[in-house]
Amino acid sequence: MSVLVLVEHTEGTIKKKSFEAVQYAAGIAKQQNTSVTALVLGTVADGEMTALGQYGAQKVLHVADARLNELHGRAYAAAVTAAAQKEGSKVIVTLNDVNGRAVAPRVAVKLQAGLVAGALSYPDTEKGFVVKKTVFSGKAFAFVDVTSPVKVIMLMPNTFQLQKVDGTATVEKLDVAFGDKAFGVTVKEVNKVKGEVPLAEAELVVSGGRGMKGPENWGLIEDLAKELGAATACSRPVADSHWRPHHEHVGQTGGTIRPNLYIAVGISGAIQHLAGVNGSKTIVVINKDPEAPFFKAATYGVVGDAMEILPRLTTAVKKFKE
Ligand code: FAD
Repeated sequence: MSVLVLVEHTEGTIKKKSFEAVQYAAGIAKQQNTSVTALVLGTVADGEMTALGQYGAQKVLHVADARLNELHGRAYAAAVTAAAQKEGSKVIVTLNDVNGRAVAPRVAVKLQAGLVAGALSYPDTEKGFVVKKTVFSGKAFAFVDVTSPVKVIMLMPNTFQLQKVDGTATVEKLDVAFGDKAFGVTVKEVNKVKGEVPLAEAELVVSGGRGMKGPENWGLIEDLAKELGAATACSRPVADSHWRPHHEHVGQTGGTIRPNLYIAVGISGAIQHLAGVNGSKTIVVINKDPEAPFFKAATYGVVGDAMEILPRLTTAVKKFKE
């Protein structure tokens, strides 16, 4: 009856957002007076997996099939379903990200489960199993009561602060008999994203828009990001113009991020852009137009020319660190 949580890793290193998913699963397990089983797919060292105990997992099921090192939605869904059936899990947690979107709906169909995408809260069990979730690209919230016996919850990354607990998890191997079609997709190439801080997991993000005028000025964004230890992002026209790579584009058609601090430089604040960033805890907008719509969503705003403000801000951060 344990709560099952799907854990993601990059080449054997468990992703920070998966620790958050495990912690979230532990919160639900506590409500239900049960335990947490984490499911790890692919090649990961035992030491890495036992550390999941520090976020509330009691047990790790490990499907060590090396074909699972790459995302195969059908195979992942088969493994999650097999693990859920083995554990008798009534609640299954994944992340609301690319992997989660490839897996969770398939699992929900297999287990006839209700699915909540974009979950932002622990279930309110006094009212049933009511979970707060984002709707309309983050412009509103909905409260969904999941009444099916089995429930699949896709947690929005960066919703909760991580807090370690004392604990270690035991690792158990799980063999899954995959059907013929499970690995039907051939992964021909994996392009690794360069950059010191991965955008999806970054707590601080400096982002530039068309107001930066051209790629030759991006050094100003990178200098500030480096001083802050932040990741860099951009608006869609910037990626479309090849000033920056597409994986940095955030918004309705790009990535969704929820950092603690989002600094938007020379970005107007179109609704499609906000859809990807309006879950950020603090938003700082730098724009020379005081009427720019982004100021309405900003926690702090600076009206002025980015080319003047960015170097001054970078120098100020440098001085503050000294
Ligand atoms: P602009 O709108 O051109 O704004 C530039 C801003 O920079 C202006 O506010 C200006 O005042 C300011 N500025 C200019 N010079 C300076 C300076 N020197 N210093 C400071 N400020 C300056 N957009 C996204 O970003 N992400 C998406 O996922 C996305 N998806 C879309 C999906 C659809 C279906 C559609 C129709 C559009 C989508 N868009 C998306 C595009 C979106 O509508 C906007 O066109 C886009 O976000 C604008 O980008 P921008 O703010 O960088 O550029």
